[in-house]
Parts: sequence; C-alpha cells; structure tokens
Amino acid sequence: MKNKIAVGILGATGVVGQNYVRLLANHPWFEIKDVAASSRSAGKSYAAAVSGKWLMNSEIPEDLAGMVVRDVTDYESIPQDIKLFFSATELQDKEVTREFEFAYAKKGYPVVSNSSANRWTDDVPMIVPEINPDHLSILKIQQQNRDFPDSGFVAVKPNCSVQSYLVAIHALRQAGFPVKEILVNTLQALSGAGYRGLTEPERRETVNPLIPGEEGKTEKEPSKILGSLNDTGITLDNSIAMSALCTRVPLVDGHTALVYLNFEDKVPTLEQITQIWSDFTAEPQELDLPFAPQPPIIVKSDPDRPQVALDVDNGKGMAVTIGRLEQDKFFDIRFVALSHNTVRGAAGGAILTAELLVKKGLILG
Ligand code: NAP
Repeated sequence: MKNKIAVGILGATGVVGQNYVRLLANHPWFEIKDVAASSRSAGKSYAAAVSGKWLMNSEIPEDLAGMVVRDVTDYESIPQDIKLFFSATELQDKEVTREFEFAYAKKGYPVVSNSSANRWTDDVPMIVPEINPDHLSILKIQQQNRDFPDSGFVAVKPNCSVQSYLVAIHALRQAGFPVKEILVNTLQALSGAGYRGLTEPERRETVNPLIPGEEGKTEKEPSKILGSLNDTGITLDNSIAMSALCTRVPLVDGHTALVYLNFEDKVPTLEQITQIWSDFTAEPQELDLPFAPQPPIIVKSDPDRPQVALDVDNGKGMAVTIGRLEQDKFFDIRFVALSHNTVRGAAGGAILTAELLVKKGLILG
C-alpha cells in the first residue's frame, strides 16, 4: 500500500495495547498515529507512560516512544488523519464502555474492539475472520439504526479462548459434520487477565479454578459467531449445547482448550477430521491478508503436542494448533487446541478483522 492507513490505539498502554504496538510496527497497510489511554497516562510520552510496565520482548518502536498519549475521552485532540481505531480498553462499566465505543463511531471512526461490552449488542458483529466475515454486512444496519456517518461503526472480537477451538468446529460443520454437544475445559494464560494478571505475584505458582464470567462467555459467544444473517441482524445458532470450565494457569501467553464433542449424526473418522482441518482455508487466506495464517489450523500428530512452549507462536501467533485427536469413551472425539490469546485472541485477531474491512471497502484509506 503506497500511503498507509493512519490508525489509533485506545488502551495503548495495556497488555493488548502493547501487543498492537508490537504487531503493527511493520504492518504493510496500517501505521499508528495516535495512542490513547486513561488520564493516568495522558500527556506523557508513550515511553514514559509504559515505563516499568512494557511487557513485550521487542523494544518500543522509535516513532512511538515520543508520541504523546491522549486521554481516550479527549475527542478534540484526535489527530486529523486517523481512519480507524483499535480499542483495547474498558471504562468504569460495560454500559459506559459501550457508549464510549459508539461515541467514536458517531464521529465517523470505524472501531474494532477487544472489549466484551458490545459483543451482545444486536447490530454489532462479533467477528472471527475465518468463520463469519459475512456478518460484517450488518454494519450498514448499525449505521442506519444509530444514525452514524458512512465511515463510522463498531465491530468486535469474541472472547480470547473461543478462537482456540471454534475455527476447528466451524471447519467440521462446513464439511458436513455438524456438532451437537461440546464440553470444553480451558487452561488460560496470565496475560488474558491484562497487566495485573502478569504482575501480581500471587497469580504465579498456582492454578486458579475461577475466571469470573469466562464460562458464560465461552458457552454463549459461539451462538452469535455461528449465527446466520437476517434482515435486521443475526439469528443466533443454538444448535450446539456447550459446557465450559475455565481455569487460569501460570503461563505468560497461550490459551489451551481440552475439547470433547459429539456430532449430530454422522461421525467422521479421525483421518477425515485431520484432512478437513489440514485442508481448511477461508476468506482471509484466499484474500492473502497480511495477518492471515497460512494454514489457519495446524494439526500435530506427535502425541505430546500442542505445547505452549513449542506451539504458541505458530503462524506468527495467528494459527490454531491441534493435537491429541482421539476417540473418547463418553464422547465421539476429543482433542487439545492451542492459540495465542493476546495475538490470535486479541490484537492480531482484530488486525485481521481490520484487514478484512479494508478489503471490503469499509475502511477508507
Ligand atoms: P490492561 O492490561 O489492564 O490495559 C487496560 C488499558 O485500558 C490501559 O491502556 C489503561 O490505561 C486503559 N484504561 C483502564 N481504565 C481506563 C479508564 N477508566 N479510562 C480510560 N482508559 C482506561 O487490559 P488488557 O488485557 O490490555 O485488556 C484490554 C481489553 O481487551 C479488555 O476489555 C479485555 O477484556 C480485552 N481482552 C483482553 C485479552 C487479553 O488476552 N489480555 C484478550 C481479549 C480481550 P492506563 O495504562 O493509563 O491505566
């Protein structure tokens, strides 16, 4: 792209925000021209705002170190050329966060958000680019409903653990093997709990069997992502019964899901499933988007994979790695799936969504 698209990061100082800064450093289409955070960080240089809490392995990009952090609610100081905002921030509560995201849309900005605040807003699509890129068409309905300018809208990403296995389920459904029941146990890394998750010492050396609110999100979000379009929005797909138990484990990055499932009727062989997953591609791969992992699903036959230490960065953190595909005593099959929560599950997944929006002509560069 000759002239890059100027983007801003809301919540640029947090774990997900830092990942945006790292991942967008050499992006071929996008260039960060605005960093915003709370009033605690506003007015400082980005380097000063993240001083002592920069968690990335790479250095702060030179062009960002001196950029002055804006308060996310200071709309007057938004640089003129910004064409898109990535939002990785949560205000006082969900209602305030919802309205905050819509305030940017009302001003004509596309917002791709990591927050859960708008995931259940009817006219807001919740996108996994390999599963439901067609849901982006409801953005037109959102703009009409809310009287937004043509350029403004809010699109969101789902919860960070859902991507570990939902693309695999989607691939099976698409190949003619609908799934009836899923039991999933997640082992979620500390970075999923943001800056505090990574820095509070009591979270290390333990497995915490409770992530408040996570099981509800895990069980519910697939029904919207797998839903179908209607005239006013999305009809939920409630055909899959799900039970989730989510735990926090002392790892930095990487959400592992232990998945057990029953098919509706036809049960594919393990060889067929391996083939379906290995052959799976979707619109982001076909469009050759910069952040599209090629392939999106990596199937490991080694019995001790996937492992966070070896596989979390597969496909530059954007691929889902699956192993231990086996028959089960109580379910038709079981498998272990891994994805990078702050890349695939947060910043990287949102960047891929934004690339799709550009290709569909919804972000005007
Ligand atoms: P985090 O590390 O705690 O960072 C929070 C960010 O929001 C910081 O930039 C912070 O700015 C800003 N912020 C906090 N309170 C604010 C307020 N009242 N007004 C304005 N800005 C405020 O959290 P995170 O893990 O990056 O998560 C960010 C969002 O992404 C959350 O909605 C989270 O649920 C979601 N998410 C996270 C993950 C993950 O794996 N971590 C995955 C998917 C989705 P200051 O530094 O100035 O305080």
